[in-house]
Amino acid sequence: MNNKINKKTEFKKICPNCKSKDTIKWTKRQTENRGLIQRYKCKECGKTFVIDDGFFRMRNHPNKITCALDLFYRGVSTRKVQEHFKAFYPHNSSNVSIYKWVVKYADMISGFTDKLKLKTGKEIQVDEMEYHRREEYKKKSVCKDWFIDSIDVQTRFMVSAKYFKSRGQVELREVLEKVKYKTEGYVTTITTDGYTAYSKVIKQTWGYNNKKGKYNVFHNRVVASNDEGFNIYVERMHNSIRERTVTFRGFHGCVESADSIMKGYEVFYNFIRKHQAIGVCPYELAIPNLELNSNNKWLELIGMSKKT
Ligand SMILES: [Zn+2]
Repeated sequence: MNNKINKKTEFKKICPNCKSKDTIKWTKRQTENRGLIQRYKCKECGKTFVIDDGFFRMRNHPNKITCALDLFYRGVSTRKVQEHFKAFYPHNSSNVSIYKWVVKYADMISGFTDKLKLKTGKEIQVDEMEYHRREEYKKKSVCKDWFIDSIDVQTRFMVSAKYFKSRGQVELREVLEKVKYKTEGYVTTITTDGYTAYSKVIKQTWGYNNKKGKYNVFHNRVVASNDEGFNIYVERMHNSIRERTVTFRGFHGCVESADSIMKGYEVFYNFIRKHQAIGVCPYELAIPNLELNSNNKWLELIGMSKKT
């Protein structure tokens, strides 16, 4: 956790042709949408290349793309983002390209953030939410899907989440394995509601400690009969998620793109928006070695996902 991850972290200047690190700065080229771009030359094989900063071959400026992401996760539909851009940018983008940017960059950023280890408290709350999705070519059939998610009570960091077609043991296991990986050494309690599938999966994931004669985590199963709320932290997070995702109006298309969109929401929840209860973004407490200094954290995170 001591290695700082920040702006000063450099892009790897590795030749894409022969993988050599022996490269030098070459010429700069003026591009239409992304300004001056530095070319590098490989001293090993002689080929020149540009570094992929996350926007390689994109026909729109990084500011415009990250602006679309930000508006989308603040609750503006892709169609409205497109209408907004039409008024301010000469080059038009369709609402389909905006949707594609959301999916592409949500996957790119979460590929990076999912590998970061967390400094959490002792208790993680896990729960599921039901979602409806219309399959693209079967307009009438509505699928009932599940978003399984988890939150660290201390930092409010959304630790692991995924969008699935069902909520069986396989799906719970996938989410919990990631909880285990990211919170290693900190977590002692997993809190869930009364849904019976949890018990076995939690035991399997963390295992039994023969020396201590007990399971490696305590499964805190909270069964409440009234609507006082059982696990308030995860339920409050669900309220925030519902509030933001209401404009998605049911997902269209495949379960994978619904999952990508929710991954982007997870990034928004952990890294972009300030959490009202703690007054900072959850990552500031859970990942103290990650330094995000600019106002456009989307852009910074995209850069980092290409650096590390
Ligand atoms: Zn080379």
